Amino acid sequence: MYTEDTIAAIATPAGEGGIGVVRISGPDAERIAAALFVRAPAENGRLESHMLYYGTIRDPKTDKNLDQVLLTIMRKPRSYTGEDVVEVHCHGGVFVVRRILGLILSEGARHAEPGEFTKRAFLNGRVDLTQAEAVLDLIEARTEKGADVALAQVKGELSNWVGDLREELIDIFAQVEAAIDFPEEEIELLDRPGLISKINGLRTKIRTITDTYEWGRLIREGVRVCICGRPNVGKSSLFNALLGAERVIVTPTPGTTRDVIEESINLDGLPVVLWDTAGIRETADQVERIGVNLSLQHFEKSEAILVVLDGSVALTDDDRVFLSSVEDKKGLIAINKIDLEQAVDLTQLRQLAGDKKFIMVSAKHGQGVQELKSSLRELILNADSELVFVLTNLRHKIALQRGEQALGETVFALSEMRPPELVAVTLQQARERLEEVVGLIHSDDILELIFSKFCIGK
Ligand code: GDP
Repeated sequence: MYTEDTIAAIATPAGEGGIGVVRISGPDAERIAAALFVRAPAENGRLESHMLYYGTIRDPKTDKNLDQVLLTIMRKPRSYTGEDVVEVHCHGGVFVVRRILGLILSEGARHAEPGEFTKRAFLNGRVDLTQAEAVLDLIEARTEKGADVALAQVKGELSNWVGDLREELIDIFAQVEAAIDFPEEEIELLDRPGLISKINGLRTKIRTITDTYEWGRLIREGVRVCICGRPNVGKSSLFNALLGAERVIVTPTPGTTRDVIEESINLDGLPVVLWDTAGIRETADQVERIGVNLSLQHFEKSEAILVVLDGSVALTDDDRVFLSSVEDKKGLIAINKIDLEQAVDLTQLRQLAGDKKFIMVSAKHGQGVQELKSSLRELILNADSELVFVLTNLRHKIALQRGEQALGETVFALSEMRPPELVAVTLQQARERLEEVVGLIHSDDILELIFSKFCIGK
């Protein structure tokens, strides 16, 4: 699986750009660089590590110069992969970069597979598995929040947390093993109640983190916000105003938005999926009923609800139904059409709204839309702002959950007065699950699965 050959790939995206980077990693990296790179002004002698050198890439067979480049050597182990790494920074045209890569391959390097640089970094102990996986998340992050979460993991926050947990487990394990080592002792060597309380403490810690997974997923995929209200209050107009574009057709006839329309917006780094729904209400129209059913489903699935009211008319029974249906959900109320004369009784609304904040807007003229956006962001982030870090990866979540289960079994074994040998077995299982998260133990299949998702050159 891990062959110590030399690999090379283009590290920058395909297409034209200011510069392109070709990366080489492995024992022959330096030899290949020496064969192709000519320093300017000409100078012999060994290139220093971690310095940038100016020169040309020359085809040794034809003596033709291919490009002016900057080249750097990062000698092992202080490199991304932990091996000798050479980076050639050339001009960013597709042709130039490919040609340089071609030369490097003809000098004996092998074209890298997707994620192979990062895989080597992992296999050489430069990063653990959670960090390697987070590199991918960071590359794929589309919003500031998503990037922040990934970066925290690249820096090793999850690894450190798992590491501390593992230390505590090893400590408990040592106590259990000591009891196994002295089987002839008649007296009970294990402080069972003490161990049980310690292990239960660890289980709570694990659960706190696995519970963040849902939140982590939202940061990656977007928090779902459903816009609802009776027909003609201005849902589609508000949807457009939030989006900043004319995406939905707005007409004065009630019930025009017949199915659920989805768009993503970026609320200051927080990805939000907005759903514009048909009015959720009783309807005789067949097509509209489909829309209504769909929107009910979306209503259930969303993490927050934006109820829209028409400020220019008095509250109707339908409005009251909407307001009461969000009682148990995270929600905001937008009183729309404030450019018109207002007819909503705010005292009455305050009673109906409970703890929900309401914001005056005009979807048509843009008033209050910024405030609505920031309130929405606040509403979504608020409850979860105290998280240490969030779990974004399903593999981590599953392994941690299994670890927690094994600890549950350990507690059972301890309380049922099972012999220390049996207690040790379940403890060992818990420890292995933790080690799986950071990749201290791993299978080739898992590595294959993880790194094949990377792009080539990473
Ligand atoms: P929906 O059925 O709830 O999606 O409502 P629409 O967005 O289709 O809007 C219904 C009608 O209200 C349209 O004629 C809009 O132009 C109008 N409308 C929406 N927002 C405002 C607003 O802020 N002020 C005024 N005066 N009219 C608005």
